[in-house]
Amino acid sequence: AKSEGRSMVQFYTPMLEGRATRMLMQEQMLRAAVENGDFELHYQPQTFTANGQLAGFEALVRWRHPHRGLVPPGEFIGFAENRGLIAAVDRWVMRQACIQAKAWQREGLPAVPIAVNLSPQEFRERDVAREVAEVLHETGLEARYLHIELTETTLMQSSGQMPETLKALKALGVGLAIDDFGTGYSSLAYLRRHPIDTLKIDRSFVTDISHNPDARAIVNAIIQMGRSLNLNIVAEGVETAAQLALLRQLGCAMMQGYLVSLPLPAEQARAWMSQHCHL
Ligand code: C2E
Ligand code: CA
Ligand code: CA
Ligand code: CA
Repeated sequence: AKSEGRSMVQFYTPMLEGRATRMLMQEQMLRAAVENGDFELHYQPQTFTANGQLAGFEALVRWRHPHRGLVPPGEFIGFAENRGLIAAVDRWVMRQACIQAKAWQREGLPAVPIAVNLSPQEFRERDVAREVAEVLHETGLEARYLHIELTETTLMQSSGQMPETLKALKALGVGLAIDDFGTGYSSLAYLRRHPIDTLKIDRSFVTDISHNPDARAIVNAIIQMGRSLNLNIVAEGVETAAQLALLRQLGCAMMQGYLVSLPLPAEQARAWMSQHCHL
């Protein structure tokens, strides 16, 4: 299968033109990438707002494209979804993140959870709980060190199996986080129905908190609600010290964003840990 995947890449010639042809070529290249594991994970630290200590990482995928270099997810995740390839990408990501987390722990680096993003497709088509159980078993990572991020849209779109799937994941011991919280069309009722641990406040609200009273009110409401429901709250996309100061004041316990660090390749994330965590 490996050699087949590689041979597809050779179909590429600049002479081929037309949108349909280009799309087909992109699809073939993405399929080949999935077969060969031509992706890379970058890890973005999540920290406690109170003391800056490391709370975990989010693993974010990049595609090692044969011609375009390292392609960010925004440029191929949607395409992968359309072509039915995203579930395969997500499974590669989950496995790789677990392998990395376990390797860092073996080295004596701080044991912190790693979060991965799962698409609605993965929940619709696959037995997610079984796959997660398999990956944890194969990699030897303890379930509590794996967090799964899903969006409100995923919760709404996915099959009637969703409550059972989430219960099964919870029973395994993995953490469940709602990503981009506040941007989806959904009723808050699901917070009672599903065993959610964490809300990640969408970057769009965080970006505006220092100058927009409405954004601040929304962030405040999310934090208060999260606290009374006993949920962890992570603010996404924190870029300025002013945003951090406000988040702290509003009682948001965790943050993620360029203020602390960009997503880093594994080797740099490791260096970040050994520096930051005073090992
Ligand atoms: P997301 O899950 O909301 O991830 C956060 C995105 O915000 C990341 O972009 C990250 O680099 C960026 N970010 C973090 N801090 C800041 C900040 O302070 N300012 C700004 N402007 N941006 C910040 P990235 O890595 O390009 O990923 C984009 C999206 O692609 C992710 O959004 C997620 O929805 C999707 N994605 C990434 N990896 C995967 C994956 O393995 N599977 C799936 N299904 N989706 C993925
Ligand atoms: Ca995410
Ligand atoms: Ca997000
Ligand atoms: Ca997002």
